[in-house]
Amino acid sequence: ADVSAAPRTAPGAAPATAAAGEPGLLVLKVGGSLLSDKRHSGETDHATIDAYASQVAELVTAHPGRIVLVTGGGALCHPVGLRIKAAKDDPYAAVALTEPAFRMRWAWTTALRAHGVRAVPLQTTSMLNELADGTTVTETGVVSRLLAEGALPVLSSDCVVTATGTLRILSSDDVPGVVLDAAVAPGPVRVVALTDVAGIHLARDPDSPVLPHLDPDDLGAVRRLFWDDAWDATGAMEGKVEALAAHARRGAECVITRGDHRPGGLRHLFAPLDAWPGDVPRTLISRRTPA
Ligand code: ATP
Repeated sequence: ADVSAAPRTAPGAAPATAAAGEPGLLVLKVGGSLLSDKRHSGETDHATIDAYASQVAELVTAHPGRIVLVTGGGALCHPVGLRIKAAKDDPYAAVALTEPAFRMRWAWTTALRAHGVRAVPLQTTSMLNELADGTTVTETGVVSRLLAEGALPVLSSDCVVTATGTLRILSSDDVPGVVLDAAVAPGPVRVVALTDVAGIHLARDPDSPVLPHLDPDDLGAVRRLFWDDAWDATGAMEGKVEALAAHARRGAECVITRGDHRPGGLRHLFAPLDAWPGDVPRTLISRRTPA
């Protein structure tokens, strides 16, 4: 990809004010299942990344400074995650995630720049400091600064330094939590997780209806809906729901939906939820019950 393409986003574009029902900040997580084949070939699908990059570019042009991209690791990171989990006697084994996660961020960065986006990959490892008292200090000044310039921070799964000074994996579904406290944009934060299913399906059938709303304070009833995906390093839907529910308990509006290539692209992701096209099934995880 041509990384020297001229940026299309206006320099210094300050985040605009959110209209009613719109998010102030959209944290868009594109699931690894859309970008690669975790079960079979293991190849990263660069044509798909390019297609999403083009849609993300449109979104950034329409809403400069109000989007953070989080890329799933997919087949690049999945086997590394399994090896890290197996290396129980190495408290720094998670450092191995740095390389495949960066390759994914770089694949997105080059594709986005070719579409005129000022994309900048950031390492989450350097933004988090977990303290012995259980609290975490986040350093997201660079995220705010990039957004204020109309640029697009690109984050991914990473290893983070624990309170005891060792490393642990931070999954890409956990990463949106990093920007929740940052007050990087006006208005509420919406986290959209695009994946290969339309939400939390009520039956083990990709054509079955999805759960429309999940109360993040009551995950008990939903657990029986998770399929048994023993092959997956990050617990597939279960891990995603746990992570998004934690963001929702901190005030974010979280949505799981399928990463379809629709005629309108990703534009609806910024619309109030009740204005989304009727044919877009999704599961909302939010303390606010939909009307
Ligand atoms: P990554 O974590 O690599 O970014 P991703 O976020 O796109 O990938 P997964 O973590 O693989 O996606 O989670 C989606 C998967 O969850 C589905 O492909 C499906 O196999 C699994 N799953 C388990 N239970 C359910 C359920 N009740 N409804 C829908 N999908 C489910």
